[in-house]
Amino acid sequence: MELTEGTLMAQQLDTTVCIAGGGPAGIMAGLILARAGIDVVVLEKHADFLRDFRGDTVHPSTLNLLDQLGLGEAAAKIDHSELSVLDAVIDGIRLRAVDFTILPAPHRYVTLMPQWDLLNMLVEEAQRQTSFRLVLEATAHSEIQENGRVVGIEATTPDGPLRVNAALSVAADGRASAVRDALGLVPADYGVPIDVLWFRVPRPTKPMRDTLANIRGGSALVTIPRPGYFQCGLLIRKGSFPEFQKAGIEAFRNKIAATAPRLRDVTHEIASFDDVKLLSVQINRLPEWSVPGAICIGDAAHAMSPAFGVGINYAIQDAVALANTLVPVLRKKGTDAAAIDAACAAVQRRRTLPTVLMQRMQRVAHRLINRATSGVVLHNPPRLRERFVIAVVLPRVRPILARIVGYGFRPERIAPGILKPRA
Ligand SMILES: Cc1cc2nc3c(=O)[nH]c(=O)nc-3n(C[C@H](O)[C@H](O)[C@H](O)COP(=O)(O)OP(=O)(O)OC[C@H]3O[C@@H](n4cnc5c(N)ncnc54)[C@H](O)[C@@H]3O)c2cc1C
Repeated sequence: MELTEGTLMAQQLDTTVCIAGGGPAGIMAGLILARAGIDVVVLEKHADFLRDFRGDTVHPSTLNLLDQLGLGEAAAKIDHSELSVLDAVIDGIRLRAVDFTILPAPHRYVTLMPQWDLLNMLVEEAQRQTSFRLVLEATAHSEIQENGRVVGIEATTPDGPLRVNAALSVAADGRASAVRDALGLVPADYGVPIDVLWFRVPRPTKPMRDTLANIRGGSALVTIPRPGYFQCGLLIRKGSFPEFQKAGIEAFRNKIAATAPRLRDVTHEIASFDDVKLLSVQINRLPEWSVPGAICIGDAAHAMSPAFGVGINYAIQDAVALANTLVPVLRKKGTDAAAIDAACAAVQRRRTLPTVLMQRMQRVAHRLINRATSGVVLHNPPRLRERFVIAVVLPRVRPILARIVGYGFRPERIAPGILKPRA
């Protein structure tokens, strides 16, 4: 696909909805709005979607939405892996934490696929609609105000400044959202005790069972199986990355091997700390998602922790809620300002509770991880109380976890009548 297709000269554009940010939230919102026949412009600051690892997990809720959009087959063609269970190996004991096979067909698994491939596929579909315009290398920096109302977004492009006039502006430009800052919206931050160091290693020649979490000797490592390699994330105390760098790459490799001994033969592939990317984990949420004429969605409204890998899916759920709420309003009332603002408030009302509940769960997970990395979580062999938890409590919790992780709280479906027939 030629991504520069649809790229426009820097100038002034008029549209109904202007979205800043071509991540999962912005592209999905743009696609559904365009498929609903609403004119939409998406501004993305990068020239393409091929960037560092930013999370790969596409959960059953999103897979169901892709089916609704008629994109199930296209998604299945992307090189991916499917995980139907999530196992953790804790101090040598394998536990099944989540089992997606209890979910209804067809998607009884989490799919792991490069985020850029997913976004490229969604953009390709969106660009079939004449109502969709994507402007790459357009960095949104401020809103346009008229009489106390946001009436568009200003961006810089290699060709000069770009002004997009819109009835609604959407900040979907991620957790460091410049548009949100320009709107004067400030998220409330919930302290997170951990950061994640992301890197990849080839799969060892000796086959290794898919394991999501490896916890051993006070160290926790996430291993996400991908075709040919493992995407790994070492959970570390917040702010402690410089200590790892000071100790050197050999000490880092040894820590990985000690946490997941089966990776010992491949840790030399981590050549230096240039191969290791720090994710400063955040959990935050805007008290108000919208101002007259503009709304924040996805990470711009609520940065999620990587715990349970739900960030992409929650961003996409916001996009669906936005389209479901806004499309009927735009169709019935045109660009009536009060109706648009009421729709934005309704989107926040709908998505706040699912976000709050998931963020609470993530904070509990952080506390557990913190405990796991500061002492023994599970004795080997397990003690009586631990055996009770494994044999009695876990099997009861497992199906609940599968639903919550797989769908999130209040999963969204594209409402009937929103999508026009595919172009
Ligand atoms: C290292 C890492 C690992 C992660 N792992 C996972 C995981 O395994 N599973 C999971 O579900 N989530 C994961 N996440 C979180 C997940 O990536 C986010 O929750 C999700 O991408 C949020 O989607 P979004 O569209 O709201 O924002 P983003 O994905 O951040 O997209 C924002 C987009 O806006 C663009 N942009 C930014 N500023 C501007 C601007 N001023 N003007 C125009 N465009 C702009 C960016 O280039 C980007 O394309 C991870 C995140 C990171 C960083």
